[in-house]
Amino acid sequence: MTKYEVMRRIVNDLGYPEYRFGQITDAIFKQKARRYEDMTQLPASLRNALKAELGEYTVGFTAVTHDLSKQTQKVLFRAPDGYAVEAVALEYKKGWHSFCVSSQCGCACGCKFCATGGMGFKRNLSADEITDQLLTFLLEGKTLDSVSFMGMGEPLLNPEIFTALRVLIDPQLFGLSQRRLTVSTVGIATGIKRMTAEFPNVNIAFSLHAPTDDLRRTIMPVNDKYDIADVLGALDGHIAATNRRVFLAYVMLRGVNDGDAQARALIDLIDKHKRYKRLYHIDLIPYNRAPAELFVASDRRRIIKFRNILERAGLSVSVRTQFGSDINAACGQLAVTST
Ligand code: SAH
Ligand code: SF4
Repeated sequence: MTKYEVMRRIVNDLGYPEYRFGQITDAIFKQKARRYEDMTQLPASLRNALKAELGEYTVGFTAVTHDLSKQTQKVLFRAPDGYAVEAVALEYKKGWHSFCVSSQCGCACGCKFCATGGMGFKRNLSADEITDQLLTFLLEGKTLDSVSFMGMGEPLLNPEIFTALRVLIDPQLFGLSQRRLTVSTVGIATGIKRMTAEFPNVNIAFSLHAPTDDLRRTIMPVNDKYDIADVLGALDGHIAATNRRVFLAYVMLRGVNDGDAQARALIDLIDKHKRYKRLYHIDLIPYNRAPAELFVASDRRRIIKFRNILERAGLSVSVRTQFGSDINAACGQLAVTST
């Protein structure tokens, strides 16, 4: 049960009319109340019942440290059991606020280039822990223009993500439009199918990173479970059902996947999905140094050359701008020690 469901139940159990629940959610999402105690529009007995079941604060997951750089804010959250995760707020020049949240503490997928993968899997976050990362930023007065599940963990291996998405799009709660949300996945085909059925307008980014299974399995062990054809099959189905664009993430690793031959192999791969080619968008991602240091970033000239080869073949491609690497807050750099 999410805490919002608990609030509704408390209102019902105490025999209060339905509008009291709306007053609680307005207090949180409109007046930005941090404590149940501050909701003075509620009868004292209701406030006390909320406190007794949910604790003093509206955000249960506490932010313990903040790291600030010019455009990036990284927040570490620690749960009462000691496990911790990070979330990142990015501010683009035009005043657009974008947020990157975690879905798991650690990750079981073990991608070789990823700091979170190096931690191993600790545990799934609850739906409340996922949405509390965003509630923290909201209560600071920030507008949630876009939210991506690109922090720690593999969202589609945590069933709580679907509950969290429901809370995020609920008009009485966060009220975010599906189109402002992006789920990034290592390629859990069954989860992608569930997204298509339940959240057709939430954006999907697939972390492809290599054009062939042979290469991909050397850097991403998960490929043995869901290979490229499995995942692209699920994504074709998603495009067919929704007519939405799908993002293919491709981290540029020097001498590993960034050669002309891999660019051509990537073109061949997408050509096999010709019907949907127009809606596959390739995002080239500069590699951020992860602690294991097994890889080296491709230099800028190589990235541009790779992009040009793809563009000439008619693919839609961009190079992702990076913020946050100065405070280890960029993609793949999130790893924390948990007690
Ligand atoms: N588990 C999900 C989402 C979290 S990772 C996934 O893998 O998609 C978010 C993105 O960061 C993924 O595309 C991931 O492949 C990428 N990433 C991981 N390590 C990276 C690194 N060191 N440099 C750049 N991107 C990285
Ligand atoms: Fe997990 Fe994503 Fe990191 Fe791979 S890249 S280890 S799936 S968090």
